[in-house]
Amino acid sequence: MDGIVGRRSVARAYRRFRYGPGAFKADFAVEDGVPWLAQAARRAGTVHVGGTFAEIAATEREVHAGRMPPRPFVLVGQQYLADPQRSAGNVHPVWTYAHVPNGYTGDATEAIIAQIERFAPGFRDRIVGTAVRTTTGLAAYNPNYVGGNIMTGAKDIPQLVFGPRSTLHPYDVGLPGHFFCSAATPPGPGAHGMCGAHAAARALRHLHRRSLGSEPDPRNSS
Ligand SMILES: Cc1cc2nc3c(=O)[nH]c(=O)nc-3n(C[C@H](O)[C@H](O)[C@H](O)COP(=O)(O)OP(=O)(O)OC[C@H]3O[C@@H](n4cnc5c(N)ncnc54)[C@H](O)[C@@H]3O)c2cc1C
Repeated sequence: MDGIVGRRSVARAYRRFRYGPGAFKADFAVEDGVPWLAQAARRAGTVHVGGTFAEIAATEREVHAGRMPPRPFVLVGQQYLADPQRSAGNVHPVWTYAHVPNGYTGDATEAIIAQIERFAPGFRDRIVGTAVRTTTGLAAYNPNYVGGNIMTGAKDIPQLVFGPRSTLHPYDVGLPGHFFCSAATPPGPGAHGMCGAHAAARALRHLHRRSLGSEPDPRNSS
């Protein structure tokens, strides 16, 4: 039957699920904002900080291999530019995270500051407050973020296309009448809601088929 296999092989499939790199979050309260050398960056809501394309590629390779690079890729959010109410006078919230190895146990705060400082000299001296969330902290905040993996699983082609247990029915848990969504399923992470929409469509299809008597009622399965 569609998407329904033995419980043991389902459990085996989930045990093979692979996680991706982690994130290390550091948010700063910054007097007069980040003094980016590039004027355009001073007006940007999001700034990707990593140097050249080749440097970013090398850094990401290190992280995927489980090693913490000295100059990690850093994503910087300056949301206050669109929403000035987030600021307190001339002190602005600057939201950042760095790509780090899954389960990284070190403190990446200094590496994040140093990366930004490369492209915005004087940034360090403007920081008046810091709030940090480690990979462990992220996992505690949201159990989906195992090892700080905010993408909920490695996003290689098989997992992105076929879901956590490699099936043509990625929204079926593998047990009759059970469905799931989340960033672990296609089309993957993002605030687009499509994982949930597809899972709901799959569940409705199941209910429709059950009402026609062509699919079993899970309440009758052991
Ligand atoms: C720092 C960060 C920045 C991001 N930036 C962007 C961005 O700019 N653009 C974008 O599109 N996406 C972004 N994302 C990704 C996006 O937020 C996620 O992909 C999306 O929220 C996933 O939605 P979801 O419904 O699958 O899970 P979530 O939104 O993670 O919701 C899952 C919920 O289930 C709860 N939960 C999980 N497991 C259990 C359990 N066992 N028991 C009880 N509760 C549980 C969690 O606590 C959580 O509340 C970002 C994510 C993070 C962390």
